[in-house]
Amino acid sequence: MNTLNKIDFLLKKLFNLNRSLISKDNIKTLNYIKKEIPINIIGLKSGTKVFDWKVPKEWIIDEAYIADIHNKKIIDFKNNFLHVLGYSRKINKVLTFDKLKKNIYLSKKLPSSIPYRTSYYKKNWGFCVNLNQYKDLKKRKKLKVRIKSRFENGKMLIGELLVKGKSKKEILISTYICHPNMANDNLSGIILNTLLAKKLFKKNLNWSYRFVFHPETIGALVHLKLRSKQLKNVIGGFVLSCVGGKGQYFYKKSFDENHFINKLVINYFKTKNIKLNVSNFDIHGSDERQYSSQGFKINLSTISKSKYYEYKEYHTSKDDLNFVNKENIYKTYKLYLDIINLIEKQEIYENTVKFGEPKLSNYNLYPSIGGSILPNKKNINYLDYILWILFYSDGKRTKEQIFQELNLKRKIYNKILDLLIKKKLLKKI
Ligand code: ZN
Repeated sequence: MNTLNKIDFLLKKLFNLNRSLISKDNIKTLNYIKKEIPINIIGLKSGTKVFDWKVPKEWIIDEAYIADIHNKKIIDFKNNFLHVLGYSRKINKVLTFDKLKKNIYLSKKLPSSIPYRTSYYKKNWGFCVNLNQYKDLKKRKKLKVRIKSRFENGKMLIGELLVKGKSKKEILISTYICHPNMANDNLSGIILNTLLAKKLFKKNLNWSYRFVFHPETIGALVHLKLRSKQLKNVIGGFVLSCVGGKGQYFYKKSFDENHFINKLVINYFKTKNIKLNVSNFDIHGSDERQYSSQGFKINLSTISKSKYYEYKEYHTSKDDLNFVNKENIYKTYKLYLDIINLIEKQEIYENTVKFGEPKLSNYNLYPSIGGSILPNKKNINYLDYILWILFYSDGKRTKEQIFQELNLKRKIYNKILDLLIKKKLLKKI
């Protein structure tokens, strides 16, 4: 199956699943991914403390409907999982519309759609409907309301695949698997992550790549807790969110404005002449919030096609397989492969002397070069360049970024770099 057909296949297979924080359909989703790439499935049990949070119970739901007094179903979650408020508790009652309406949710920006609402951490119940359905319910005097659900101890699951490269330093590519019945947010991200991993798997790579799939927010924290040691190797990466819509490309920078991936992505779009809306990092958004939080500070950015919050179908039933198509996901897929290719070409060095300036005479650098002024640079000499390169080589700036800072001839730059590598003052990360 070619990639386009594979995208189409996965869109259809995985769209109609009731994904949530912990649910049977999360396992189904991970098992489908596992058919494509050899992910490990890891996780933590309900009730486990995760930093300031706690892994919730599994939500098991068998039925959710509103019927008239003759038992004719008007709203049924079997037609669309969005009809029921995520993590609804059970209810079995006959109510007047006036009593029922405080538990009914409508989409303000797109009334013809069913909105997506959840109540993960507060016990509640509710139904989400479109305006016509709302009007239909309003006509009835009494309504039968039934949600057959329960909460049990379960396990929050994470799918992960580490593709090892020459360097043990990693690029993290993360996506979330907790949204039911919606395509751009975030089935598109699940499919893209799967296909990128599939493409990179078994390739001869310079960097290592860690692909992860978990529920949003709490899932990211579970991952950070389970893999705190390994994630210290991450030098940057992406959160895949909303990557297959009809709208424009959008880039949300990681928190460190000068991070090489920010520069690289923006420059890529410029060179390719593709319109890109760029925003700085902010504390709203997806799992970059957790990965970038205190204690971790991992630089993750996001390239979206129709960005969350900004398209009217967002978090509604209209974010469906008409809004997202295989061609748009494929476009983003190709673009990511190009960007990964550019990341692969980046070299990063670190100063091997961890504290203080290296004593250059110990390396036979000081006396032999000191005083030798470069003819074309008025004030800076060889020794200064050595010191600047060592200063900038913090294991974060790329070779290219340091070159841009220094304003010297590439030939001379490479020569100094080679010398410092030979003297074991610089080490490739
Ligand atoms: Zn969302």
